[in-house]
Amino acid sequence: MRVEGPMRILCTPTGIKRFTVELIVAAVLFTALTYTSIYVRTRALLFDSLHQQAENHFDLVVTARAWNAENDGVWVVMGPGVEPNPYLEELGVDAVIETTDGTQMTLRNPAIMASEISQLLEAKMGVTYHLVALEAINSANMPDEWERESLLAFQSNSESRSTITEDENGRRAYRYMERLTVTSSCIGCHEAQHYELGQVAGATTVEIPLAAIDDQLQANAITLAVLGVLSAIAAAASILFMTNRLGRRIQEANDQLAEVAVTDELTEVLNRRGALARLNEELARAERTEKPLAVAMLDLDHFKSVNDRFGHLAGDEALRHVAAILRAESRTYDVVGRLGGEEFLIVAPDTPIESMVRLAERVRARVSGHAVIAGKNQITLTVSIGVVQAETGESLDRVLSRADEAMYAAKDAGRDRVVTG
Ligand code: GH3
Ligand code: MG
Ligand code: MG
Repeated sequence: MRVEGPMRILCTPTGIKRFTVELIVAAVLFTALTYTSIYVRTRALLFDSLHQQAENHFDLVVTARAWNAENDGVWVVMGPGVEPNPYLEELGVDAVIETTDGTQMTLRNPAIMASEISQLLEAKMGVTYHLVALEAINSANMPDEWERESLLAFQSNSESRSTITEDENGRRAYRYMERLTVTSSCIGCHEAQHYELGQVAGATTVEIPLAAIDDQLQANAITLAVLGVLSAIAAAASILFMTNRLGRRIQEANDQLAEVAVTDELTEVLNRRGALARLNEELARAERTEKPLAVAMLDLDHFKSVNDRFGHLAGDEALRHVAAILRAESRTYDVVGRLGGEEFLIVAPDTPIESMVRLAERVRARVSGHAVIAGKNQITLTVSIGVVQAETGESLDRVLSRADEAMYAAKDAGRDRVVTG
């Protein structure tokens, strides 16, 4: 049986296979896309938080620096590692005083305090701070190339910049740089540089090592990849399971449809299409195997008058009765079909014509010998049968027409008989 259109594509095993492959590809793509999005989103969130951290570090140091500037510097007790700031001397500031009890104190100006806090934070958290200016007093505050670019950008209104760097050992770091503008507290120390209020005097670079985040991202990538593969496998397995079931259901439905398409509804023997298709197959097989093939064409006698006398329903009952006789008298591998109306066909493979004549005789005798009981009526039927032997290479039409001729010869000879053609 043929199923047309999209159903036909889906209803074949290759159609189901293609459909399954398409579904699996779609599921795998969807899974890959989902997990990649999760990875990208997580990464973006981590970097957002990193950026926030860098800003906070910057604010912390700038605030400490501003506090120092507000107080015109902070005096600390001198000792090993706490030496006077040599740059203050260059600026002509006396950075050492002695208290009445003889303790020597030295001045910590904003820049050096910020730098010392930075050193402590670096030791503790690995975050480095770099105070830079285009015209640095302290050579340690000279900008590197990226910082110089940023400083120039800050001159023209940009406020902050960030980048990711990698050193020669492959260690990555997140660099955040924000400009420092001159406030009134700066002017005192930086008089020599002729700073003006609001001018961009320099910037601070905050550098956060990425090793920990890179480790987190790598662990996250591995976890997501494993989860993604497992999800894709689970999705593919479910799809396979479901399309397999769908395939079986479609196969069953196809088989039923195919059977319905070749079955005569009234008598449940093959219909014309089914019977002729089988006759064609048997003709080809007989030619291949060189075995005899016999064909019988049957037509009920005066069936019109059966309908006229007993009604159409009784006529239907009679047709079912005859079909049952045909099935009972023929072998399982014989083909029994209703060609239309009250006309039947028997195809008997591997059967010489003499055997077919005997079979036809049995059928004829049984039809005429057993009246059909339809309600209160007993209907006596007879049948005319034409029997032929298929010749080698003979066409279907030719065999049918010879069988038809033999059947009409039986009619002409008085009906209720078997005639060979
Ligand atoms: P003959 O002996 O020459 O074959 O005469 P006949 O009356 O059998 O031939 P005819 O071809 O004139 O009539 C066939 C009748 O079969 C006509 C129609 O009413 C009847 N028939 C065809 N199909 C059906 C069917 O499905 N059910 C019933 N009840 N009758 C049918
Ligand atoms: Mg007829
Ligand atoms: Mg008839």
